[in-house]
Amino acid sequence: MTALTRRNVLAGVASAAAVPHAANAAAQSAETRTQGVYRYRLGSYTLTALYDGIWYRPIGDRFIRNASFADVEHALADAFMPADKLATPFTALVVDTGSALVLIDTGTGGQIASSAGVLQANLLAAGIDPKAVSLIIISHFHPDHINGIKDKDNDLVFANAEIMVPAQEWAFWMDDANLNSAGAELKLAFRNQRRIFSDIEKSVTRFDPGGEISPGIATIAAPGHTPGHTVFAVHSGDQSMLVLGDTAQHPAVFARHPDWQAAFDIDGDAAVMTRKKLFDRAAADRMLVTGYHFPFPACGHLIKTASGAYEHVPVEWQPDL
Ligand SMILES: [Zn+2]
Repeated sequence: MTALTRRNVLAGVASAAAVPHAANAAAQSAETRTQGVYRYRLGSYTLTALYDGIWYRPIGDRFIRNASFADVEHALADAFMPADKLATPFTALVVDTGSALVLIDTGTGGQIASSAGVLQANLLAAGIDPKAVSLIIISHFHPDHINGIKDKDNDLVFANAEIMVPAQEWAFWMDDANLNSAGAELKLAFRNQRRIFSDIEKSVTRFDPGGEISPGIATIAAPGHTPGHTVFAVHSGDQSMLVLGDTAQHPAVFARHPDWQAAFDIDGDAAVMTRKKLFDRAAADRMLVTGYHFPFPACGHLIKTASGAYEHVPVEWQPDL
């Protein structure tokens, strides 16, 4: 057996680095971009977190409706974020129940930021054939959650998947009166939803939250961020996990400041109420949680702090299932 000394490790690094080659460098960067895959178990289910990339969302003094921008900048500094940008990673989840292959939310489709859009590459890296996905469940209709349903040519990416969406979300966003009364920025979201859903309307199933939509996957109404925003509880054996969607965006900001109402929350009061209710439940029951905008692999636990806020405790990385 060869002893792995620091010297021969360094020598190995040096010899690998000594053969710079354009093709090699390109392959390496493609490889580096497709390493956002994390598998873990929940009971008998296999879960796969799929990274889609990150967007550094520019923010200004209107970003939080009920806090001063000085307080927001303080929170960003505490979270080691730039002063004027919210780190917004995107992580979708595949639940393999053994009888169904379920994708919860679909990524940005490469249409939100140039630094995001690698979900499909990561899906392939995970060995998952898009055609094998049997069900897509959508938490809400913001573009970073629905755009991955289609490619840039408007074709379905997951050709064999049934698509299930919250009925209330559909009712709100597909209503032309709501579109017409929306501000210019929100109108873009309405138009995008029509691009995604109008020509596949007949094959999209709408559900009301409160029951199971697939064996082992229950739905919980979580309004506020959007009117029909929905959270999922995945159960297998004696284990369960809450799929929080956008109940809170980056936890270093919004778990620590659960009262904050962001500009992108349609109903800020409801968003805060929903966040606290679900976070209290997750903390009390010590449930595993995953959040769409939590740092990859986006799963961990929530604890309640003495001040009534929350801290996210990431899972320990498990190299094997
Ligand atoms: Zn989102």
